Amino acid sequence: MKRVLLLGGTGDALKIARHLGRNDVYSLAGLGRVPDDLPCRVRVGGFGGPEGLARYLEGEGIDLLIDATHPYAARMSANAVVAGRQAGVTVWSLRREPWQARAGDDWRFVPDWPAMCEALAAFSRPLFTLGRAPLSHLDAIPAHQRWVVRCLDEHPGNAQATVIGARGPFTLESERALFTRHDIDVVVSKHSGGAATEAKLDVARERGLPVVMLARPAAIETDRTFGCGATLLAALDTLRDTASAHHIQTASRRNEA
Ligand code: NAP
Repeated sequence: MKRVLLLGGTGDALKIARHLGRNDVYSLAGLGRVPDDLPCRVRVGGFGGPEGLARYLEGEGIDLLIDATHPYAARMSANAVVAGRQAGVTVWSLRREPWQARAGDDWRFVPDWPAMCEALAAFSRPLFTLGRAPLSHLDAIPAHQRWVVRCLDEHPGNAQATVIGARGPFTLESERALFTRHDIDVVVSKHSGGAATEAKLDVARERGLPVVMLARPAAIETDRTFGCGATLLAALDTLRDTASAHHIQTASRRNEA
């Protein structure tokens, strides 16, 4: 039977984890909630770089490493490929499709934080939906701006910044209310994809507001890449069926001998 290590920290990964077996392992960095109702084992915290991960793969007898981390978790994804190669373990990845711009969208892609600040200079009420990154810049907010920063956990704001701790999914109605309450004139987002956080883009389109979009890190090539969790799970089932058929055949040959 193939033993799986699933690298998670996303809703998509959690859905896969619910289909794993009791010998498989679901791994989290430790930033969010740790589920306690999964059929598999759960481990929390870094491995200590690619070398640490390679040691873990070998030590735990892992046969398949599945990278279902967030598209912006570039370091972990790179580590997975290096460690898989080092330990001789197959690596699969789940790569969520990015959102596609529709008629009426005004998306402005930027490569990094300085370019983002430049793109925001003409606006006064940005809504940041990038996670915690803006929190370390709250003391450097331009005088003409008032920021709304939404991230997973509560955090103190200041005279120029309101920080909202909230976890998706977010509805169209709640996003409309948020934009109105704070008089938002531009949205700042990662190019994450997925339905859970898409409503802000719908509201931006409705109101003719631009979205400053932090470009995705380059995707890292793995042995197999899946665009959706259901396809990945189907491939995992096939792999396990093949492995168990092979196991039965080998055992019966041994019995006949
Ligand atoms: P990152 O920069 O790629 O990784 C930083 C370090 O965190 C890694 O080198 C690794 O430490 C550890 N790590 C990351 N994911 C891990 C996992 N699933 N299990 C064990 N260790 C893990 O990642 P990040 O952007 O900080 O994201 C951290 C976690 O939050 C990931 O699980 C990701 O899926 C989730 N997340 C990220 C975002 C985002 O926008 N970046 C959004 C939603 C959720 P070692 O080198 O010590 O192994």
